[in-house]
Amino acid sequence: MAKKERSFAAKVAKSTAVKGEICPICGGAIQPVVYIKSERSPLTGNWRFKKNMVKVCKCNHKEIYG
Ligand SMILES: [Zn+2]
Repeated sequence: MAKKERSFAAKVAKSTAVKGEICPICGGAIQPVVYIKSERSPLTGNWRFKKNMVKVCKCNHKEIYG
C-alpha cells in the first residue's frame, strides 16, 4: 500500500500584524508573514518545519498563498 503525503505537509503561511512598507512595484502594502514549510527528512523520516519570514505584496501573493 502506497503511503499518501499527509495534508499538513501543505504550505502554511501565517500573517503577522506588522505593516508599514509599500511595494515600489505594485504600490501595495507589504505584509511580512511567517512562512512555514514542512519537509520530511529522508534519513529519519521525521517531519520538520522550516520557518521563514517573507514579505508578501500583490507581486508574490499568489506564490505564497497559492
Ligand atoms: Zn509588489
